[in-house]
Amino acid sequence: MTGEYEKAFKKSIEQPDKFWDEAAQQIEWHKPYTKVLDDSQAPFYRWFTGGELNTCYNALDFHVKNGRADQLAMIYDSPVTNSIQKFTYTQLRDRVAKFAGVLLENGIKKGDRVIIYMPMIPEAMIGMLACARIGAIHSVVFGGFAPHELAIRINDARPTLILSASCGMEGSKIIEYKPLLDKAIELAQHKPEKCIIYQRPQAKAGIIADRDIDWVEAEKSAKPADCVFVQATDPLYIIYTSGSTGIPKGVVRDNGGHAVALKWTMKNIYNMEPGDVFWAASDVGWVVGHSYIVYAPLLAGCTTIMYEGKPVGTPDPGAFWRVISQHNVKALFCAPTAFRAIKKEDPNGEYLKKYNLSSFKYLFQAGERLDPDTYYWASNLLKVPVIDHWWQTETGWAIAANCMGLEPLPIKAGSPTKSAPGYQITVMDSNGRILPNEKEGTFAVKLPLPPGTFPTLWQNDKKFRESYLDPFPGYYFTGDGGYIDKDGYLFIMGRVDDVINVAGHRLSTGEMEEVVASHKDIAECAVIGVADDLRGEIPFGFVILKNGVNRDPKEILQELYAMVRDQIGNFAYFRNAVIVRQLPKTRSGKILRSTMRKVANGEQFSIPSTIDDPNILGEIKEALVRVDHVKK
Ligand code: AMP
Repeated sequence: MTGEYEKAFKKSIEQPDKFWDEAAQQIEWHKPYTKVLDDSQAPFYRWFTGGELNTCYNALDFHVKNGRADQLAMIYDSPVTNSIQKFTYTQLRDRVAKFAGVLLENGIKKGDRVIIYMPMIPEAMIGMLACARIGAIHSVVFGGFAPHELAIRINDARPTLILSASCGMEGSKIIEYKPLLDKAIELAQHKPEKCIIYQRPQAKAGIIADRDIDWVEAEKSAKPADCVFVQATDPLYIIYTSGSTGIPKGVVRDNGGHAVALKWTMKNIYNMEPGDVFWAASDVGWVVGHSYIVYAPLLAGCTTIMYEGKPVGTPDPGAFWRVISQHNVKALFCAPTAFRAIKKEDPNGEYLKKYNLSSFKYLFQAGERLDPDTYYWASNLLKVPVIDHWWQTETGWAIAANCMGLEPLPIKAGSPTKSAPGYQITVMDSNGRILPNEKEGTFAVKLPLPPGTFPTLWQNDKKFRESYLDPFPGYYFTGDGGYIDKDGYLFIMGRVDDVINVAGHRLSTGEMEEVVASHKDIAECAVIGVADDLRGEIPFGFVILKNGVNRDPKEILQELYAMVRDQIGNFAYFRNAVIVRQLPKTRSGKILRSTMRKVANGEQFSIPSTIDDPNILGEIKEALVRVDHVKK
């Protein structure tokens, strides 16, 4: 071991100003910052105050001017439409500048919000970067979200404009986006002034005169726009994420800290050099897509892959190996669920034999726990380091990782290794006392969080404080539980709140409960996460019918599944529920969700002393036995 990791970590904690000031030299500033870490409003911290820059400039124009004009910036690979499109840095900069011109012509100014509800096509990335170019704040909403969810985000972000497309593709299925968008705008109280729609050949969207604009037509006649410099502390984007309640949280990302931290991670965590090809197989609607499909690889002068396909079925479980070999990918970043899907269809890795993977050096995994089985399967098959790293929408980049560019540390299966530089992590008990190594509790990060994380929630400092700062004063509350072993390795065991992780997608069980409870026949319900081989976790509902309801229970359950699908999205995967007579509760009426979770997952549990009627747990257990799905 060289000690490089330890040195970097120590410096980042003891001299954060110096550490991040050095990292910030990799960014081109229009005006230098006056302070690296600004703690004048603590516990609200800001990074690089006084500095001015443009994120799009640093992601595109900088490389055009510094020798990468003809290098590929982005490769769009879409097995679902059978097309590949390549953009050099110059070509991508020119498209972005033109589309930024379209935004300006439609009255978008610095600080205005633009919602992007799009499939995985180049225009989604072009839209994001065009916003960044003129200082508008984008908020990308994952295309799988149903209109109700989109409407909630429209009401909170209050966009002037929405960018969308006529359709997305789910395998060979065409999903028309425009009716979903129109419905969302109808449901929302806030109405955007305009929508710019990209017409894909697979479906033609109906256009609402006076509101909808054709993307291609508008871009044709637009005048390219220059970069507008913004404050380092100005928001670059808002991304909504699930919390414990039905109201998603608008995580704000600034411009300066984000650019500095992401560029630093590309070399130090991912060991990527300019010119290398990086592939994050995610969606631009998720944080991994923001950070590692769009911003970080471009800031670092790499080539990024935008993949509109699946790990299996587009057309087969060799899809990932095909992309890696065809485009000389050096590192792939995806969620373990993708590998579980490949393993299920091709357990012996027969498809891998068809491809030359000599360019491939690392597999990075995040989004959910990398279970040891999947870890061993992937590393035996691929024979490259398989690197688990832990992060959240809120942090924007890894909280814990094995930093390949600093110093690879020995891997322990089931652990994302140690704290990434910048994060001082502890484990707390429920009273906010720091626990010793090996003891399980809740992870907390000592403030300030490093640059590139989040200064607050969109126009909601109060919720930011309540959700993240109040539980453990002086620390950021992660919502994840687990322990740190004697060597300083972290083991992330799962959420301590009502957030579940379905195939790497973060969902709120509270939100599903709200939907289920709104059914006319339902008196009360609880939704918990139960273990699932493929998706990691899936939601499971327990419902109590109102007195006097005597309809076919199967029919009611089908209606509940349809309601969650229609109001949240199909990816929520709410397909399992049982009708029970009662829910286990404390004497004060709180539903004992964590005990139910343990019962459902066949884990050891003790009967809480506060329980009102322990016999109800027996009924819950019986109900689960009746459902084939749940493992014992
Ligand atoms: P999201 O905000 O959608 O990225 O989801 C973040 C949550 O996913 C975290 O709070 C964790 O519960 C989980 N997660 C992400 N990465 C990991 C990992 N490497 N190991 C365990 N859990 C993870």
